[in-house]
Parts: sequence; C-alpha cells; structure tokens
Amino acid sequence: MERKIINTITFVSVLFTALCVIILYFFPNLHASAMEQREAMENGDSVGESVLGLIRANTEMIQQSPLENGEVPVTHHLRMQIPDNVNVNQITFTNNYLYYTVEIMVPGLGTTYFYDYPMIGSCDHIVDMTYGSVKNVGVIEITLDNVYEPTYTYDDKYMYIDFVDPHEVYDRIVVIDAGHGGVDNGASHSGVREKNLNLEIVTRMKEYFDACDENIGVYYTRLDDSDMALAQRVDLANRLKADLFLSVHINSTASGRTSSINGTEVMYRVGDKSGASKAFAQNCLNEMLAELGSNSKGLVAGDEILIIRTSKVPVALAEIGFITNNEERELMQSSDYQDKAARALYHAVLQTLEEQSSDNE
Ligand SMILES: [Zn+2]
Repeated sequence: MERKIINTITFVSVLFTALCVIILYFFPNLHASAMEQREAMENGDSVGESVLGLIRANTEMIQQSPLENGEVPVTHHLRMQIPDNVNVNQITFTNNYLYYTVEIMVPGLGTTYFYDYPMIGSCDHIVDMTYGSVKNVGVIEITLDNVYEPTYTYDDKYMYIDFVDPHEVYDRIVVIDAGHGGVDNGASHSGVREKNLNLEIVTRMKEYFDACDENIGVYYTRLDDSDMALAQRVDLANRLKADLFLSVHINSTASGRTSSINGTEVMYRVGDKSGASKAFAQNCLNEMLAELGSNSKGLVAGDEILIIRTSKVPVALAEIGFITNNEERELMQSSDYQDKAARALYHAVLQTLEEQSSDNE
C-alpha cells in the first residue's frame, strides 16, 4: 500500500517536472509570437496568414464561369490584380532559393488587399502561400517544392506570375559556396578566420558575375556570416543540376601551428568518371597560380570530403593558401590578393563553361 502511494507521488512529480520543462520550452516562443502579433496590430500590420485555400476556392469559382473577352485562362500561373496607383516596376520579387521561397512585395497594400482582390490561378510547384502587410507594404510569401525562378508578364490590369526551372531562364548555372560560416570558423590563426576570408573572396566573385553579360545564373550558398550544413550546400548544386559547383576555402596545416608550408591546391572528385570535376579543378588551379603567383600544391583527390563525394555535378574545392603560413596569411588578408583570387576563379568558371559547351557541340 505504502509503495503504491510512493509510486503515485513519484509519478505525479515526474509528470509535473516534465510539464514544467515543456511549458518553459515553449513559453518563450508563445510569448514572442503574441508580442509580435500585438505590435503588428498596433501598427495596422498583419502577419503572414496562409491564403492558399482562398486562392483555390476563388479559382474554382472563376473557372466555372465563362471567360470574358480577352481574359486569359488561369492554368499554370497565378493572376494578381495590379493595385491602382502601383506601377509594375514597384513590385519586387526576392528569390530565397535556399528555402524554396519567393517573396513578392507590393507597396501601398493594406491588410485586406488579398481578400478584396484575391489572387487566382494555379501552379504545380506551390506548397503554401501567405499574405501579410507590414508598414503598408503587402508581402506575399510563396513556398515552392524546389528551386524555381519567378517569372511574370502583365497587362493593364493583371500580373501573371509563374515559377520555372532555372534552366529555362539561364543558359548556364553555377553554384558558389563560401566555405564554413556562422559558428563554424573553419581554420583560424592569429585571430584571422577562414570563414571571413572565404566570404570576402566569394563577395568579390559576385561582383564579377554581376557585371558579366553572359546569361549565367549564379547561386550562392551564403553571402553573409550564416551557418549552413554541408549537405544543404551540395543539395543546392544537385537540385539545380548546376553546370559547375565551386567551394572556396583556405588551407591549414593539420596541427594548425605556424608553418613554412604554403601554396594553392584544388580538390576534385576522382569518382567523377567523366573527368569534368578534374578539368574544372585544373582550370581553377592554373588561373590562381597565374594570378596569385603562389606555389602549386597541385590537384588533390577530395572524395573523402562530403560536398565533393556527394556532388552529382562537376565540383572543385579551391584552397587559396595556408592560413598557418605567416606571409600567405598576410597576403590573403589584403583586398588586392582577395580580388586576384576572385578574378582567377571567375575566369576559371567562364573558361570551364566554354569548354563544356564546345565539348557538347
Ligand atoms: Zn575550409
């Protein structure tokens, strides 16, 4: 009997503790979201609410009625009524391709716009859509089932939005990865962190690609100090069926101690029997040696590295120089050297794409 009571008391206290842990765990979130909602209401804003059901219902209704003169049928695209006083150029599209979301921002839209002028239509790739209004800017966030590029056409009254395979938009596709980031510093020495040098070089590469007049779609795994899992980086390249996937890194000795070892090396995937990975790596190495004047550490088999082994597209991982070498570390911190590395890798990408297309002819 006594044992039974003790058991019951033990059970109740365990349950109570578990409940406390659960409540404490979730309470900050509940509290934060309630605060967010209240703040939004005070500003006359509304947080994003799912509107997919609304669109489906309206689309069904419209499809049952005959088309008016000149009206475009609403299959395989979304139709949004362009608000009065809004110029199409003021509507912005942001493709957050890492999260398969596209954000459409329309100025001058209050919280009820979407309900007053509901979007209609359909698109196979849409998983969810929310509408909210922040500081009188309507925000439509569309979640897709993969990486797509938003495209649109418009007439006087409507904008017709579609999401298409990036290969339909670009002639070639390249994924560029600045290694490490966030809590992952990569190699470090004397207060210099690899993740920051990688980002500097990739940011400069972006400037070159932005100024390039060839129709190349370049996707970056990060353009700030954010964290990203290795699997997610290579997944972006694989999903996009990229023509090339380049990861930018800085080398270090195994011990991480100061050393005379220096030079540039590029890793490639031996398992890529087409030889495309090795050819790309060779171009990266040649261009960097010419631009940087660094020692060659050659091409290195990189198949034990996850992003190389699991890449289904031609991959190269460039190690610009050694952070553990005093002279090279000094050089790699200079904007001149970073720019040279960026230019070299940019040229290596262009050259490899060119070789790929002449091979296919
Ligand atoms: Zn690294």
